[in-house]
Amino acid sequence: MAEGAGTPVSAQPSADSRTAVDSAGARDAMMRLIADSVPAMMAYYALPSLRCVFANRRYAQDYGWTQDSIVGKTLVDAVGDAAWRVIEPYIARAARGEPVGYVREQQLPGEADKLFRTIEVNLIPHLDADPGASPHVNGLPRRQLGIFVLINDISHHIEAEQAIRDSEERMRKFAEVTNEGIVFHLKGIITDVNPALLAMTGYSTADLLGRYTMDFVPEAWRQISIDYLAAGREDPYETALIHRNGRVIPVEMVGKSMPLKGEVHRIVVVRDITMRKEAQQRIEFLALHDPLTQLPNRIHLRERLAQVLALARRRNGVVAVLFIDLDNFKTVNDSLGHHAGDQLLCEMARRLSDAVREADMVSRLGGDEFLVVLSDIGARAEAALVANKLLAVVNEPVTIENHRLSVSPSIGISVFPDDGDTVDDLIRHADAAMYHAKDSGRSNYQFFTPDMSQRAFEALHLEGQLRQAIAREEFVLHYQPQLLLADGASGSRDELVGLEALVRWQHPERGLLGPDTFVPFAEARGLISAIGRWVLCEACRQLKAWHDAGWPKVPVAVNLSAIEFHQRGLVQNITAILAESGLAPQYLEIELTESVLMDQGGFAFETLAALKALGVGLAIDDFGTGYSSLAYLKRYPIDKLKIDRSFVRDIPGDSDDVAITTAIVQMAHSLKLLTVAEGVETADQAALLRTLGCDQYQGYLISRPVNAAGLQAWMGARGDNRSA
Ligand code: C2E
Ligand code: MG
Ligand code: MG
Repeated sequence: MAEGAGTPVSAQPSADSRTAVDSAGARDAMMRLIADSVPAMMAYYALPSLRCVFANRRYAQDYGWTQDSIVGKTLVDAVGDAAWRVIEPYIARAARGEPVGYVREQQLPGEADKLFRTIEVNLIPHLDADPGASPHVNGLPRRQLGIFVLINDISHHIEAEQAIRDSEERMRKFAEVTNEGIVFHLKGIITDVNPALLAMTGYSTADLLGRYTMDFVPEAWRQISIDYLAAGREDPYETALIHRNGRVIPVEMVGKSMPLKGEVHRIVVVRDITMRKEAQQRIEFLALHDPLTQLPNRIHLRERLAQVLALARRRNGVVAVLFIDLDNFKTVNDSLGHHAGDQLLCEMARRLSDAVREADMVSRLGGDEFLVVLSDIGARAEAALVANKLLAVVNEPVTIENHRLSVSPSIGISVFPDDGDTVDDLIRHADAAMYHAKDSGRSNYQFFTPDMSQRAFEALHLEGQLRQAIAREEFVLHYQPQLLLADGASGSRDELVGLEALVRWQHPERGLLGPDTFVPFAEARGLISAIGRWVLCEACRQLKAWHDAGWPKVPVAVNLSAIEFHQRGLVQNITAILAESGLAPQYLEIELTESVLMDQGGFAFETLAALKALGVGLAIDDFGTGYSSLAYLKRYPIDKLKIDRSFVRDIPGDSDDVAITTAIVQMAHSLKLLTVAEGVETADQAALLRTLGCDQYQGYLISRPVNAAGLQAWMGARGDNRSA
């Protein structure tokens, strides 16, 4: 500006007096300084010639002149023809005394390749003196001396406005393509929405504009949204929206404040998180439920029971915990496979759930164990009613994969507050009572009594010991001989026709234990198969050794519990054991109880047929105590009936028992089955049996079950060894 300040004002006529020049020159210099300092372009054209009288530096330079050279030029010359054609109408109006303002785009001379700039032009008519007066003085127009031109470059304003428009356009495009819903609102009143929001909520733009945002937020979520807004928060939070169809959509929202023209607008981005929520719920559900039956799991149950107990404590309520175990589930699982087992569990879960009230809880603890919590009962007796109902629904036969199955539950019940105050105590005591129910013949329920916890502890101890016994093979077999009831004169030596192998547990502290003390327990705890396998191996091995040593070639009978019989792969196992021992199949006989025959699925038949085909003998043990009918006996490939000891015990004295025994022998013969009398202790019993036509006998009269050495001694004493 220093240069501009010193530039002489050539257009100014010379002043007469030095003082006048000085003062006039100083004022001109000051004017010029000001004119050159403002960012605007200024010029003054005299009328009517439209010649330039004055231009500031910026004006002159923009048209390619100097401040001196532009003076005296006409407006056409000063701006060039092209510009003149554009501005001529405005100039004409200004020349007629009208203040004119317009905006135009302008390309500067010599800058053809540059962008246009936008200028705002003001043409101000210059009238002669008396600026306060109207253009008309005494009815005559005031004389117009010239036009003052004031030009501002407003390119950057225009650019800024364009930038805003561009950004709004971008925003609009973005809002249109994004999957996230966008809502603009002012003080909660919706001012704009994007298509994604419409798709998400099912509404049309018209439905939403001007409505209150909270109208679309479910009642339960409103306060959260209001608080969020009030706090001016801008972080994401979870809330919900109501779809036009009424469905509640879980959403995540982020709000941003946008101050605009003194008001705070909010832009809210809305993300549908239904999928995420569902996944979350699924994970939470899985953590608390059994995946197979969908019932609450142990963790869930414990939490719920704790809550139920807390409530019961305050209200002096009574709560019952029912521990349910399915007695023969393992048999189903082992014989029909896991798939069938799973179906059975689901069916039982459904039945149990249906049988209790809404407020009660049925959960699966794992395996075939269920726990039912009766959250508010009046008295213990009510738990018994429910237990009876549960027994009935579970006992109802189920058809799975064309097998008609029946499972029976054993139920143990503990009651708050009598039997325990904590979740742990109540569950443990119900568990102990359940074992008591199992021991009491199954398919029944038992209430907890304090002595049961001692027994439960003992049972646990016993289970540990039994597992160890299996690992260490702490078992021995005793053998009891079976003799032919020869029709020769009494006193003649009856021929040895078979041996029955009977297992014992050589307990490290308690000595030799009979099967009644541990076989039912092993069955209940799923340990019988391991024991049974050992028994089979040992019996086959011993028999083969005896045969090889020249002792009588008689078969050995091995007892199989129903659980073992239903085991998958039983026939293959027996085949393998026989092969390994080298014992021919006809020297093995399997003793089964009548309950095996009552399986209605047809599975028993297949197994029996397969065993028969293998060449193994089949005997029905304890015959007469079960419910097997003639029909069953006819259907199955059985070789032998063993008349139960209870019928033999009181013959010949008890006429009823004589009648029963007679009937069994007759019937067996008509079906071409051999009969064996069990538990024969007296010569009178043997004599009668012989008269009735019973084929074989077994009992203390002949020998107690004795270990291998004992049996060998017994056979030796009879002179049974052919090679001796
Ligand atoms: P069971 O198969 O009926 O065996 C006969 C039971 O009667 C044996 O009892 C035997 O000692 C007993 N006994 C034999 N003769 C007489 C007699 O003259 N008088 C009396 N009072 N009793 C006699 P034990 O050895 O205690 O076996 C009991 C039951 O345990 C067996 O009944 C059988 O069902 C089961 N058992 C034995 N060994 C095994 C085995 O290896 N596996 C399985 N699953 N069960 C077995
Ligand atoms: Mg037996
Ligand atoms: Mg028996």
